[in-house]
Amino acid sequence: MATFIYRCPVTGYKVQGLVADNPAEKPNTQLYEPVTCTVCTRIHLVNPKTGKVAGEDGR
Ligand SMILES: [Zn+2]
Repeated sequence: MATFIYRCPVTGYKVQGLVADNPAEKPNTQLYEPVTCTVCTRIHLVNPKTGKVAGEDGR
């Protein structure tokens, strides 16, 4: 498992996320991981490498 920090798009708080870190089972094309947010209890798509949340910008 790997931890990372992302910014919750709903509350604006920085949240520590947790994802299964097993590169052998994950294709490189899958950048975003579904993460259950501990702050707003919703699911965000987050890139664990960059902490970027899908749909956070540009919309
Ligand atoms: Zn959230």
